Amino acid sequence: MEYQTILDRIHAAVKPIIGTGKVASYIPELAKVSPDQFGIAIVDLEGKVYQAGAADTPFSIQSISKLFGLTLAFHLEGDSVWSRVGREPSGSPFNSLVQLEYERGKPRNPFINAGALVVTDMLLTHHAARGGAENALIRFIRKLGNKDDIGFDRAVAQSELRTAHRNTAMANFMKSFGNLNNDVEDVIEAYCRNCAIEMNCVDLARAVTFLANRGVVPWSGEKILDEGAAKRINALMLTCGTYDAAGDFAFRVGLPAKSGVGGGIVALIPGECGICVWSPALETSGNSYAGSIALEMLTSISGRSIF
Ligand code: GLN
Repeated sequence: MEYQTILDRIHAAVKPIIGTGKVASYIPELAKVSPDQFGIAIVDLEGKVYQAGAADTPFSIQSISKLFGLTLAFHLEGDSVWSRVGREPSGSPFNSLVQLEYERGKPRNPFINAGALVVTDMLLTHHAARGGAENALIRFIRKLGNKDDIGFDRAVAQSELRTAHRNTAMANFMKSFGNLNNDVEDVIEAYCRNCAIEMNCVDLARAVTFLANRGVVPWSGEKILDEGAAKRINALMLTCGTYDAAGDFAFRVGLPAKSGVGGGIVALIPGECGICVWSPALETSGNSYAGSIALEMLTSISGRSIF
């Protein structure tokens, strides 16, 4: 597939809409990011990189970290993950509290904030028992992305920590139902640190190629998940990865994807490649506006889709 030509064409076509939407401002540090930026990258299973725009510019991965957190928890704990978090689209905003009350502290899915807090709790318990809970997720992502200098932005982590009132409320609420084992403060701190991980489009496209390759990291041959588990993560990305817009996203793009309020969206074409697009201005569900349009163009022009 001539991906370079396609990416160049997409980059030119989206230029007039870059900046449409709103940069996330409820995390003060993210409000400082300029909306006029756009990057896109594809990494195929042979490791070949195609890119356009600011694909090498690092940004805050935010909820894309939920994809890596779930993968690590699934890798470590297997199906017991599902006793504490569901697998249904939420149909609500990613930080909704009300659904948690109806469902007695068991979050709908691992990609909304409440679900990711439970997954963070699982990872903390697992790594605390073995030492080195700090940065466990970063070490895992470095392995997936084949890059040693991936880290997190302290200013973003602190900024979210200082304003994490709603996530803290959710964590306390789940704790009251016995669905958090660690201290709320520790879970929130680890969660904010993970959301503040910084990567660029090329790193992220590379880091998700294992999901396009039946759970095996293409360049190292390491099996992260068995084929069935990789398929399930992809199914969750399709149904829950872009929150309340997941139905529309499946309709328009037709690929498993996971977004973050930093404006990044990762996606993948099974058997072919990992993809990442970034543009910080968001639509109302919290997904990159120009990024979603770029992905829609990618599948329309290339004729690729999982359907
Ligand atoms: N850190 C953000 C939060 O907890 C992540 C949300 C997102 O990217 N959708 O609100």
